[in-house]
Amino acid sequence: MKLVSRAAWGARSRSTSTNITPSKGGVTIHYVGASPINDSHSACAGRVRGIQNHHINGNGWADIAYSLLVCAHGYVFVGRGINRRTAANGTNSGNQNWYAVCALLGGSQQPTDEMVQGIRDAVAYLRKSGGAGSRINGHRDHLSTSCPGGPLYALVKSGAFGSGGSSAPSPGPGASKPVPGVKAPAFPLKSGHWFGPESSDSRNHSGYWSADRPHIRRVRDRLRERGWSVAKGDRYDQALANTIRAFQREKKIGVDGLTGPQTWRSLWEAPVT
Ligand SMILES: [Zn+2]
Ligand SMILES: [Zn+2]
Repeated sequence: MKLVSRAAWGARSRSTSTNITPSKGGVTIHYVGASPINDSHSACAGRVRGIQNHHINGNGWADIAYSLLVCAHGYVFVGRGINRRTAANGTNSGNQNWYAVCALLGGSQQPTDEMVQGIRDAVAYLRKSGGAGSRINGHRDHLSTSCPGGPLYALVKSGAFGSGGSSAPSPGPGASKPVPGVKAPAFPLKSGHWFGPESSDSRNHSGYWSADRPHIRRVRDRLRERGWSVAKGDRYDQALANTIRAFQREKKIGVDGLTGPQTWRSLWEAPVT
């Protein structure tokens, strides 16, 4: 786990906050919401300090509301930390019995694989060192709110962060779990078609037709989210084909530089290595 201590992010000291009784509940997941957050990691500590300032100066609270915060780069920032009541879950029993983990994620944003892993690390840490119960829910399970947003709440319910939503049973031993907890969107082309550099083959989609361009943009964006250096754009050019070849080699799938259903799925679901 990439843990960032309070000293490391420059936290202000807190006034006393009550101890919690952690074992009854579990972990509640939150997001920041509002506009998309596309910080480079050097800006993440400043964002956490801003949230703390807002909670202390604006809301008059003892400290930042959350137990832990997770950035898009998979770092886990210590907020109130373990064995302390939170101020984030919106009800007395929620704050007393449930830890609060906040993703630094804007409204409608998809979490990165690194963020999903960071939330998993945060949950495991709260269970192991903070006595958190095995349940995971979203802020909206305590009261009416959009938090933690659609994409993150879907992951909460799917069990991506440990055992599933509040009532879902955990998978038995040997059950196979999708690795990063992210589901690929449906492959957008007809069966037998693929994305690739311009070609006379009618099954090939290069971005020549404008209907294909949003999907190609998505492939490029997804590669960038996974850490590949790819230009923005909506055509499937040779440079993109070369990057896809390198990606396919790394994931040990057929190396042809084209994006068909398997490569498409791997762009979302294969672990980042
Ligand atoms: Zn929330
Ligand atoms: Zn970061």
